[in-house]
Amino acid sequence: MHHFTYQNGSLYCEGVNLEELASETGTPAYVYSASTISENFRRLDSALSPLNHEICYAAKANSNLSILHLLAKQGAGFDIVSSGELFRVKKAGGSPAHCTFAGVGKTAEEIRYALESDIYSFNVESEEELLRIDSIAGSCGKKAPVAIRVNPDVDAQTHKFISTGKSKNKFGIGIDRAEAVYSDAASLKNVSLRGIQTHIGSQILTTAPFAEAAAKLAPLVKKLKDRHGLEFFSFGGGLGIIYSDALESASPSWWETRSPEDKRITPEDYAAAIIPHLAPLEMRILFEPGRFLVGNAGVLLSEVQYIKKTPAKHFTVVDAAMNDLIRPALYEGYHQIVPLRESQATPTLMDVVGPVCESGDFFAQDRELPLLAPGDRIALMSAGAYGFAMSSQYNSRPLLPEVLVKGTRAELARTRQSYDDLIAGEKIVELE
Ligand SMILES: *Cc1c(COP(=O)(O)O)cnc(C)c1O
Repeated sequence: MHHFTYQNGSLYCEGVNLEELASETGTPAYVYSASTISENFRRLDSALSPLNHEICYAAKANSNLSILHLLAKQGAGFDIVSSGELFRVKKAGGSPAHCTFAGVGKTAEEIRYALESDIYSFNVESEEELLRIDSIAGSCGKKAPVAIRVNPDVDAQTHKFISTGKSKNKFGIGIDRAEAVYSDAASLKNVSLRGIQTHIGSQILTTAPFAEAAAKLAPLVKKLKDRHGLEFFSFGGGLGIIYSDALESASPSWWETRSPEDKRITPEDYAAAIIPHLAPLEMRILFEPGRFLVGNAGVLLSEVQYIKKTPAKHFTVVDAAMNDLIRPALYEGYHQIVPLRESQATPTLMDVVGPVCESGDFFAQDRELPLLAPGDRIALMSAGAYGFAMSSQYNSRPLLPEVLVKGTRAELARTRQSYDDLIAGEKIVELE
């Protein structure tokens, strides 16, 4: 499932020694494996091949131009959530004709930009948005292709911040109101009903919620297809990845030795659970995976700065921080931590923390890890999705470099920001 492995005691990304790479780029730095991304794409694409389908990569997971370009070359479309992402997709060589535009808060300016770019579809989240799109399309002399996001009210059994398919979430319209909203939408002059969409949440590790959503929506989708001539059903993203044993999951045998209770979802399991519900619809089925394609394909490299011992704790202070990777602070997200040089040191209970002035700035709490010393380097595994993409300059820390690896080659896909980048666009205003 990915290409991060120890070779002769050193952690490699494909054919690149990460210790050597870290010496060149400095730390912290993000590193992505291109082959992992391509293989994930091909594996999912092939599992879904019984369906007339298209994979629209959810660009928000990792929107580096090189990653978008790589996926565009593989034949991916894109699921975007802002006009900034549409701009990126176009710069990366992706086609707007293969873009769906999601999000509950599209502004007039974003809608205009997407219309002018001739995107494939707006995934509409409310009646108010539908009216706004109709009016803007009218003023641009365009007909806006739309799909309405329907919330199936199923429990995705994931963290509450990334669950989106319950009726209490802000997303989509309720399944019971869908037919009425489609009928109203059909009377709008500047809108064409092209599809229907759903997305129940992220980091879903069992097939049941997907199967439930597909089964629950299929009769409605069929009815709306027949009534309004819909051409596609977008089934969203949400396929979960391995965080806890990320390194071990590189080996195919690791997958085979899992117990039935610990069987994490594979693309083939996912496909098998939903295809029986989706194939009979005889429609184009869109998928919007983000995390699955890029999550296990990236790591964050960091260097130990200090070991700080208090009566209560053993703190390993590293040079990466919550501004670089916010998942632990935001979602209690777990990232496996491994030393770049394989270590036989005694496992010690420790906290791994960053330098930022917040108690939420940690990568691990009370975790047994081999004892580390200042200067040792580590990899935070499974950091390819919602890692760099959610980073900020908090504490005036420049944004990190991103390196793309393929085979034995490694290239900077983004340079480390300079201090000048930190203050770009700012000026000193004196008003007194
Ligand atoms: C975030 C999002 C996705 C991608 O979710 P993953 O869990 O990364 O696959 C897909 N569709 C929509 C509408 C989203 O908001």
